Amino acid sequence: MSILAQRLARPEIVALEPFDIAAQANGSFTPDAIKLDANENPFPPLSEGPLAAGLNRYPEPQPERLTRAMSALYGVEPANVVVTRGADDAIDMLVRAFCRPGQDAVAIPKPTFSAYSHFARVQGARIVHVPLSENFGFDADAYLEVLKGEPNLKLAFICSPNNPTGNEVDPALVLRVADALPNTIIVLDEAYLEFSETASLAANASSRDNLVVLRTLSKAFGLAGARIGCAIGNPDLIGLAARALPPYPLPSLSIEAAMAALAPSRRPIHEQRIARIKADRERLVPLLEQSAIVKSVRSGGGNFLFLEVHDPAALAAKLRGLGIRVRFRPYAAPGGVRLTIGTEQENAAALAAFGVPGSDEKVRRAEIVRETRETKIAVALDLERAEPRIIATGIPFYDHMLDQVAAHAGFSLVLSCDGDLDIDGHHSIEDCAIAVGTALGRALGDKRGIGRFGFALPMDETEAQVLIDLSGRPFSRFEGEFETSHIGEYPTEMTPHVFRSLADGLGAAVHVRVQGENDHHKTEACFKAFGRALRQAVRREGDALPSTKGML
Ligand code: PMP
Repeated sequence: MSILAQRLARPEIVALEPFDIAAQANGSFTPDAIKLDANENPFPPLSEGPLAAGLNRYPEPQPERLTRAMSALYGVEPANVVVTRGADDAIDMLVRAFCRPGQDAVAIPKPTFSAYSHFARVQGARIVHVPLSENFGFDADAYLEVLKGEPNLKLAFICSPNNPTGNEVDPALVLRVADALPNTIIVLDEAYLEFSETASLAANASSRDNLVVLRTLSKAFGLAGARIGCAIGNPDLIGLAARALPPYPLPSLSIEAAMAALAPSRRPIHEQRIARIKADRERLVPLLEQSAIVKSVRSGGGNFLFLEVHDPAALAAKLRGLGIRVRFRPYAAPGGVRLTIGTEQENAAALAAFGVPGSDEKVRRAEIVRETRETKIAVALDLERAEPRIIATGIPFYDHMLDQVAAHAGFSLVLSCDGDLDIDGHHSIEDCAIAVGTALGRALGDKRGIGRFGFALPMDETEAQVLIDLSGRPFSRFEGEFETSHIGEYPTEMTPHVFRSLADGLGAAVHVRVQGENDHHKTEACFKAFGRALRQAVRREGDALPSTKGML
């Protein structure tokens, strides 16, 4: 047992017996045991579908698969993680586990996230505010100076990147504070860390006595509505703190949502989204600095910007009229405004409200998740960008082929497939083609302004011809023969199949004709030519719908 956690925890928590719930016996039974122990209703909810299944049962208090997935995500062991209803709940849990009302204190920087003082007040803990430096920087010496000799200082919060100012705290400073306050638990809130370049201290928290790191799926994984976060620390400290949680803290639906979001096949898309948000955050800074409304713009490591504006009341009225919501943060700075980075359209609307012309570039992007028992595929495709191209189908030659399509068509493609390659590549190859075709069709939207038709021709000794019509009517013709059965792990017989799946998914007529000597060349030529044909067909040439029918 961590002596420190034992010593710092409220005596009531140390003495508390684990909550007496039926789930304690879960480990002694198989999942199909007859369950008459928890006063559950035997009938599942009346709604259809997989979400309803099992909802009549209480969830696992700390589902092992989720703890495992989150510990892997943050690079620690499952025993270092307690999953909570958002990081909010972890803050509340720590305050309730460690702070005796009217006696114990928590240190809270100023300005920072308001939940620390909220939960401290609810618990009746004393709050010692420690001002951040002039530029909202974290000054470890000043922090320690204010806290010197503070009796019963149980928790010291540090938020990095800081909400609402975005400042990142050098991990070395956090460790210095932890070293200097051996009788206090340092709570490092890394809720926004994925949007910053700062290193996590999760691994240090696992091995130290007095450091807890908070993480959340709300921000980087877009799961704010599921309420899934966690506290990371040494197992004894985490175990003690978790006693303050209710018996079944995590709703089953949220557990499923978190497991789905953490599926390895979805990872590249989440990374892509984070990269976009970070890029947009930086893109917006000089634009907002042009605004007559804005005094200063501060970027940082979050998915938001911190502005200081001249006339917050006027801005509030204007934004209200436009139906745009931002957070006014006068407690952080006079005229302080926190502006979250949104989608391109949302950012453009915000820029326009600040009187700055954004770009009126059309967005032609689609993100698709296609999951069956055979394959789990996630695709993000952006017709307005050429990069990145990150393709992982599990079949290297096919990755190369899809990369040829995207490169020659000139679009960004992020695709990840977790398929049943233990059987063979068939399902993965076919389903990826369907998913790419579907994503292309979605990204094209109403098809206004596109070229619609495309064709392409020769490659070395090989001649490949691909003709495309993005007509909305799937049709596929493939003329060509292959001598060999496989190229790497890729079966050559799949090529006609791939183009049919692409045509079906995309809703296009795709005619492929290939002849030559070398199967590798021939296959590659088909994919390249398809990319080139697609490049012409998807290119925007104006605003007209390229059909006399009035729809495509
Ligand atoms: N920490 C910080 C710094 C935050 O800004 C927030 C939410 N705004 C949280 C923690 C809580 O996140 P959640 O409860 O959604 O995980």
